[in-house]
Amino acid sequence: MNVNAVYLTMRSRYIQDPSWENFFALIGSLLYKFPILSKVPLGLREVEGLINECGLEVCEVLLNACHGLALALSPLEKVRKKLREEIQTPPGVDLIDQDLARKEIFWKLVRHAKQGQNRLILLKAGLEPKVKAYVLAHELGHHLLGHVLEECKVEGWLQEVHADTTAVWLTGLPSPFRSKEENRLIAELVGYDKNKAAAGGSA
Ligand SMILES: [Zn+2]
Repeated sequence: MNVNAVYLTMRSRYIQDPSWENFFALIGSLLYKFPILSKVPLGLREVEGLINECGLEVCEVLLNACHGLALALSPLEKVRKKLREEIQTPPGVDLIDQDLARKEIFWKLVRHAKQGQNRLILLKAGLEPKVKAYVLAHELGHHLLGHVLEECKVEGWLQEVHADTTAVWLTGLPSPFRSKEENRLIAELVGYDKNKAAAGGSA
């Protein structure tokens, strides 16, 4: 069986019709593609290993607005757009006062585009290990589920629910950004029992 073909079929079904049925079928196909997934929940090192195996690069940057971002760059287009935004900075504005985080991201994107690297996770620098593992698993989820693809039809809020569900499954940790009740429902969905899910409940 060509496990990659099965994965791609499930993924294209899911991004056209993101029902829970198609979501779980896609997750199921990942179990064949990445044997380590039979050992979930995974620790930070294993999540990082999986990210490597997927050919994704992680960039730690000074993100302000969020904890992580999953990106698929169509390099030239994205960089050109960013460049246009940069050039349109009104004259007379002191560049030193500009948003440093944004500029740092910009230059990293340029570097990645030049290297032809187009699958990228931007991660907020300085996260504590549990939050880091969760955020990485969440962003990896966006990549594995195909949310970064142009043809993805999944609505933004649902992408977040599905990426969180994937992250909880991968790490066994509750989302640090969702309520207890939401985490309880997600843990139940992925089959972690109450006690197991509660173990990380204070993260
Ligand atoms: Zn997300």
